[in-house]
Amino acid sequence: MTTSFSAEQLAAAEAVDVVVVGAGAVGLAVARALAQAGREVLVLERETAIGTGVSSRNSEVIHAGLYYEPRSLKARLCVRGKELLYAFCESHGVAHRRCGKLVVATDAAQLDALKNIEARAQANGVPVEWLSGAQARALEPALSAQAALLSPSTGIVDSHGLMLALQGDLEAAGGAVALASWLVRGEVGGDGTVLEVVADGAPMWLKARTVVNAAGLFACPVARAIRGLDPRHVPTERYAKGSYFSLAGKAPFSRLVYPAPQDAWLGVHLTLDLGGQAKFGPDLEWLPAGQDPLAIDYTVDARRADGFYGEVRRYWPALADGALQPSYSGVRPKLYGPGQPAPDFRIDGPEQHGVPGLVNLFGIESPGLTSALAIGEHVARLLQVA
Ligand SMILES: Cc1cc2nc3c(=O)[nH]c(=O)nc-3n(C[C@H](O)[C@H](O)[C@H](O)COP(=O)(O)OP(=O)(O)OC[C@H]3O[C@@H](n4cnc5c(N)ncnc54)[C@H](O)[C@@H]3O)c2cc1C
Repeated sequence: MTTSFSAEQLAAAEAVDVVVVGAGAVGLAVARALAQAGREVLVLERETAIGTGVSSRNSEVIHAGLYYEPRSLKARLCVRGKELLYAFCESHGVAHRRCGKLVVATDAAQLDALKNIEARAQANGVPVEWLSGAQARALEPALSAQAALLSPSTGIVDSHGLMLALQGDLEAAGGAVALASWLVRGEVGGDGTVLEVVADGAPMWLKARTVVNAAGLFACPVARAIRGLDPRHVPTERYAKGSYFSLAGKAPFSRLVYPAPQDAWLGVHLTLDLGGQAKFGPDLEWLPAGQDPLAIDYTVDARRADGFYGEVRRYWPALADGALQPSYSGVRPKLYGPGQPAPDFRIDGPEQHGVPGLVNLFGIESPGLTSALAIGEHVARLLQVA
């Protein structure tokens, strides 16, 4: 294959050991793991700050690992990630709270769904406790439920505090984050991948022995821009927006409350932030196939609240008319379309695509925040550095 880079560009390319594309929670956790294993790591981030992508637009829930197919990457990385995350938050002073969560069946028809989650949680080694409606109401008097599952290891975390602490560890291990640095394209060569980067508006070239693509919503387009990676190894992305509505006034619950899930979606749930404020969401709105991720409209349409009232009143009948205010939205990087079953995280290393030193992280939607530290360990293992 002839190179698409000029001789001048190749001569100007600066050698780096590892480039991680994307300074979200996952990219930073991977970069930290590789730097702590002794690699020289540079993180490229196209925005002017870390953590402005999917990692800044989520529920900030530390998921316990209740829902995922046993032995899947999602199950294993969530359960391991949760343990690592609690320990990391403790040791690094990152704000978090192990507040617990209730998954509720609001009618007899949902009891089977709840029993399935109980069985799955047990298969994943996640502690849960079955509660009658009365036992659940003893914990949360405002709740309406036939039965509930208590998940004591679910919690909440300050995602920005987490990312700052990850960046701190990365830098302490000799790594660096380059902001306003956009990876435009790459080309796999014999002894590494040449990368074209627009840094502060000016082009520059790097030659990396290892490239980890943790570009979140942009992971598929970034992989497609790497010449030498067979396009058959790049899945088709789909995006699904989730809008949140905040609740004015005091939160009615002290634990997170989730309805029994429908299909691949966890339903309109109640989460709390570390200040104790309650919000509901995210809902699920598929964006059109072929959506340009740079052109996503994150505005929350106030009319979507109509769908929330009915859903929330199933488990919290006291929700007053007009109590929900449009808050923020996030977009999930999915690898499947409406009505299809949710696939596993897709973490492709050299064994999958045959390109030495390249790892692509595709479809890192929930529980990606919870799993970030475990994904870091996993990628280090794939690259045989841990
Ligand atoms: C609505 C919603 C709710 C969620 N709730 C939870 C939850 O409660 N708990 C949980 O565990 N998970 C949750 N998740 C999932 C979690 O937020 C994500 O899995 C995680 O944040 C993904 O992190 P990331 O680093 O892969 O992506 P991102 O945070 O998006 O980071 C990718 C970065 O790459 C940068 N980038 C992209 N292209 C380029 C390029 N070419 N060059 C340089 N930089 C580039 C972007 O600017 C971005 O900063 C939720 C997700 C959504 C959407």
